[in-house]
Amino acid sequence: MNKYHINTKCIQSGYEPKNGEARVLPIYQSTTFKYDSSEHVGKLFDLEAEGFFYSRLSNPTVDCVEKKIADLEGGIGAMCTSSGQAATTTAILNICSAGDHMIASSAIYGGTTNLFTVTLKKFGVDVTLVSPDSTEEELQKAIKENTKCIFAETIANPALVVIDMEKFALAAHKNGIPFIVDNTFATPINCRPIEHGANIVVHSTSKYMDGHAVALGGVIVDGGNFDWDNGKFPSLSTPDESYHGITYTETFGKAAYLVKARVQLMRDLGVTLSPNSAFLLNIGLETLHLRVERHCSNALTVAKWLETHEKIEWVNYPGLESNKYYNLAQKYMPSGTCGVISFGVKGGRDAAVKLMDSLKLAAIVVHVADARTSVLHPASTTHRQLTDEQLISAGVEPDLIRISIGIEDVRDIIEDLEQGLEKL
Ligand SMILES: *Cc1c(COP(=O)(O)O)cnc(C)c1O
Repeated sequence: MNKYHINTKCIQSGYEPKNGEARVLPIYQSTTFKYDSSEHVGKLFDLEAEGFFYSRLSNPTVDCVEKKIADLEGGIGAMCTSSGQAATTTAILNICSAGDHMIASSAIYGGTTNLFTVTLKKFGVDVTLVSPDSTEEELQKAIKENTKCIFAETIANPALVVIDMEKFALAAHKNGIPFIVDNTFATPINCRPIEHGANIVVHSTSKYMDGHAVALGGVIVDGGNFDWDNGKFPSLSTPDESYHGITYTETFGKAAYLVKARVQLMRDLGVTLSPNSAFLLNIGLETLHLRVERHCSNALTVAKWLETHEKIEWVNYPGLESNKYYNLAQKYMPSGTCGVISFGVKGGRDAAVKLMDSLKLAAIVVHVADARTSVLHPASTTHRQLTDEQLISAGVEPDLIRISIGIEDVRDIIEDLEQGLEKL
């Protein structure tokens, strides 16, 4: 599908029915697949023949969605997972094991910070968090002999920091390690990190890709643009005894990383996306281009309106010219950033809670990036155990409201905010 524009790929990529087959991607609700000879099944196990044998590893419905997402991101292949967390975990564990070190931007999703600093630490993988604004020298300083990757988010959730991808990629590549990017908020519609030097892209498909808040999911996309045979990644470039002594770089070349992630880690961890969830994800992807465009234009309109409102203390949205990350956003995602805005109301924490409780259209939910406008006040929900001082040091102002702008009519979203602000 390479000749088509991304808007067409959203609808057409991944599934090409043959004469007389279902027009719409079918749900292959089957854990297993039938073959006529044990010899054939043996070849499947030896990775000598292509085909499906057990849905923990691959399934025809999931396979089509993987092909579509790989095409959208410009990668050589993709592997879906049961959640975004599973995608990040698998992406890291595929190249890091006990004794290894990794670097991550400190401006990342809270769940990912926990994964890196608590759970992976218990696995013996050490992480250094660096400022998303790090200079080349600062990045270089953080890299050690046993550092195996650098990880960052294109637009950080919830800080809305835009990373300078080319700088991060350069630092990684100078040291023979890959740059892994979580592209959940920007989506491939607005930004394709592989074009800017990323080697592996992960997503929580639970957000814009699904778009309707109906199915958890994640995906790992392989850029196929990293040389894993440089001596730093023996798990890819030396025989895997758990797979009949196969050497991934030798047998699978550019696809070594992705094949290993599937046949070793998906086999062992089983963080599989169900065919039913893949079907729902595909329906979401079919309108991704339309929705993202509307999320972004609505959000920009709301952000500009908030910025001029007398009861608003501050607005953080990388699409605003006043924003610290405006220039980076223009460089890496010129057609739009995302639908999420954070802002503070005059009157602090109490005013924030009062505003949130007065909203009628925007619902209070612990989710972002779906079709419906939603709001969250971290200080009284996800971060409620913290004092005001602790909140500020965690980068969460007590008055911070995170609003995820949906695809409703923007006039109604603004009217809802207006009536809420009038009550303050
Ligand atoms: C939500 C989110 C995740 C985690 O994804 P789940 O599907 O909830 O597991 C990871 N990264 C980012 C940027 C997210 O917004």
